Amino acid sequence: MPGFEVFGEEEKKETLEVFDTGVLFRYEFPEQRKGVYKVREFEEKFAAYHGAKYGQAVTSGTAALKVALTVLGVGPGDEVITQGFTFVATWEAIFDAGAIPVFTEIDDTLNMDPNDLEKKITAKTKAIIPVHMMGAPARIKEILAIADKHGIPVIEDTAQAPGAKLDGQYLGSFGACGTFSFDPVKTMTTGEGGMVLTSDEQTWRKMSEYHDHGHDHAQNPGGRGGEGRSFIGFNFRMMEIQGAIGLAQLAKLDTIISEQKKNKQALKAVVQKMPGVSFRNILDEDGDSATFLAFMLPDSEKAKAVNKVLGENGAGAVYFADNTWHYYPKWEHLLNGLTLAGSGWPFKDQDSRRRVVHDPEALPASAKIIGRTLVYQVPVKLGQERLDQITSAIDKAAAL
Ligand SMILES: *Cc1c(COP(=O)(O)O)cnc(C)c1O
Repeated sequence: MPGFEVFGEEEKKETLEVFDTGVLFRYEFPEQRKGVYKVREFEEKFAAYHGAKYGQAVTSGTAALKVALTVLGVGPGDEVITQGFTFVATWEAIFDAGAIPVFTEIDDTLNMDPNDLEKKITAKTKAIIPVHMMGAPARIKEILAIADKHGIPVIEDTAQAPGAKLDGQYLGSFGACGTFSFDPVKTMTTGEGGMVLTSDEQTWRKMSEYHDHGHDHAQNPGGRGGEGRSFIGFNFRMMEIQGAIGLAQLAKLDTIISEQKKNKQALKAVVQKMPGVSFRNILDEDGDSATFLAFMLPDSEKAKAVNKVLGENGAGAVYFADNTWHYYPKWEHLLNGLTLAGSGWPFKDQDSRRRVVHDPEALPASAKIIGRTLVYQVPVKLGQERLDQITSAIDKAAAL
């Protein structure tokens, strides 16, 4: 999965070009920067790679979600639907935009169940965020059809799936916006950073302004100054060094994915030997970015027993049912309404009664699936020694 596995001379070279100009800021200083605009170039290349017209670089994947929600007009009183299996950032951004997150079940894709989505749409639903978890697609076409029927925009949280496709089209290019993360453990990384893709010019212009205190970069490209502001903004700007690293990493994305595909096949061939095992439904095997191998045992008792043996033999898998960062019933701060705001916002209303309550038992279908799922992260570099270790651990678990 992580792009840091392939850091090399390319990242160093790109970064040094920034220091040669002395301009770390993505805007202004036209003489000093000698034509070097790393963030802008990264935006253009990342968008073109994914088949979108515009890219807006920001400080993180969480910021990307916040920016996308804000420019789509989401605010207090609104609801945004996402899935109960995702990183906490997805719903942190929904709260930060002032809205309330509503969670759907996942299905055998380990992503949003479109049938449950349809049931959870209300008059207050102002955006839908399917998450392409672990490098492979949600049922984005079905989700878009439902969203279109209700006139609700879709933001694809593509933080875990740059370079992944469904039927030849890149994930993150289907919805009104696609958001990406370049944090330290993602498929490609800039240390910190994020991107929002869109093919709608107005949406891009709003993002460009909002993420930089309202500065209008369309009328005043590269600069900032005399122009007025159309609305209140914030600062989510990416810096040149991140843009430089992003360019080097993007150039390696195809190689990262093809190496992961090979390694995933090798791991799958080993895991397949286990009696009763099945695999996550990947809607498009060709388009899989192969960052993770998710496999299911017949029930949660079996999954836990298998993972105990794997762990004892140095090859433990991730058991998301116990993971406190990615799975709804484990989000105690959400479930208990914990916030730093003295008023109790966003869980409490003006009259200080608790209005927003999330029931830990609300997603039984997801619990059934997650409870029997084990996950291996697929490295870009998988040595024979490590593969042998996993093979021997799986052989022991298979004998259970
Ligand atoms: C990593 C991640 C994010 C947040 O990205 P950061 O850059 O770490 O803020 C959002 N959504 C998902 C699904 C992620 O995995």
